[in-house]
Amino acid sequence: MRNVLKKLIYILAVLFFGSFTDLNAQGQPNCGFNRDFFDSSYIHWYQKAVEASTKTFLDNRGKVSRDTEFVVPVVFHFIHHPNFPPDKLFIVKALAEINADFSRLNADTINLRSKFKSRAANAKIRFVLVDKDQNGQPSNGYTARSSLTTFGVEPYQSYRTWHNMKFDTCGGISPWNTNKYLNIWVCSLKSPKSGRTYWAGFATPPKNAPRWGMFYRDSSIDGIVLDQSTYSNSSRSSTLTHEIGHYLGLRHVSGDPPAFFDSATMCSYDDSLFDTPRVLNQNYYTCDTTLNSCIEPTNDFPDMLENFMDYTGDRCRNTFTKQQVSLMRYCLNTLRPQLPKLIVTKMVTTTLFLLDVYPNPNKGSLNVDFKDPFSQGYSAFIYDCLGRKVVESPITQPKSILNLDGLSTGWYQLTIVNNQFEIVYRKSIYKD
Ligand SMILES: [Zn+2]
Repeated sequence: MRNVLKKLIYILAVLFFGSFTDLNAQGQPNCGFNRDFFDSSYIHWYQKAVEASTKTFLDNRGKVSRDTEFVVPVVFHFIHHPNFPPDKLFIVKALAEINADFSRLNADTINLRSKFKSRAANAKIRFVLVDKDQNGQPSNGYTARSSLTTFGVEPYQSYRTWHNMKFDTCGGISPWNTNKYLNIWVCSLKSPKSGRTYWAGFATPPKNAPRWGMFYRDSSIDGIVLDQSTYSNSSRSSTLTHEIGHYLGLRHVSGDPPAFFDSATMCSYDDSLFDTPRVLNQNYYTCDTTLNSCIEPTNDFPDMLENFMDYTGDRCRNTFTKQQVSLMRYCLNTLRPQLPKLIVTKMVTTTLFLLDVYPNPNKGSLNVDFKDPFSQGYSAFIYDCLGRKVVESPITQPKSILNLDGLSTGWYQLTIVNNQFEIVYRKSIYKD
């Protein structure tokens, strides 16, 4: 029974953009949500996706090739408890994770089963923290508002209240121009009513995105919301990666079937991408590789638990497929055209950041040697197995030594970022 309830909650989570049909029964909104967010077709959102041809996903502006890198400016908005001011580490970890995941540099790609390896793809999308505000003035990349307000809602609560954190007038922070910036709100999503946190995050898809039966007419709520715990509780979080997938037009791999249909019906729902195997419904926090919830008539594959657009969790998710990547690049290029800068030259690759890190294991001092021309602005972060930062050190010399004397014996993760918070190096290290 508990499982059923859990599933129900998540199904409601999946449905929340389109499930609140009692639009007129909510009375007067108390806070700016007297708007019609949905296209009238949203009630048909669950119908099978319309496109079947991959050619419509292809980047369709001639100048954009597979080598083109998209660079997306990101601004964070923290609505935080007075005792817990915004933590720059949150931003560092978030950008490090997404920049690794969207350039397929994430260390856990080695966990992708070999049968899926030919389907995996590098999205070539880079996320850069803004260094100027909308008026061209220097910015540290985030805005903040100290407040005791939490923004969590119950699964069945009016959709209007889901977005309060996006409005100055509702206790939140109004976005920067959503056509030009990816806005990410970080706040408490704990429901004041039940004290529970139902969502790790949620996102808005692009207007007119294929495979979404509804779209947002209102750019004032466009962006991503994360619960403030997202980057404090684990050493690996793929939550923002998953939400950016939605923000760039991806559905869940299940195609989000309506709840409680029989398995044959549910398996007929799909994200309409050919290289993500069909799954009965979202897989909740399992890495069981024997799972094959939908038998495909031909060319059957097991559930792709490694896909970022399932719910399998951080231990399993590590991959976008080629068609997911094509669809995201298509959406970025055509449906969010003002958002990215296009870098047509070859993408920056890790070979530019060749480093020697030794010895490993170490006894308290770790050498970091840059092999390539060195510039200022690198920083080293070391996280323990709980994701807590235990060392933070600027790297000012091409040959540096990190002092790890204060660390107890065990495994740690070393991350080196440049001054754009792009991850340039990551390695597991052992302190002896
Ligand atoms: Zn999702």
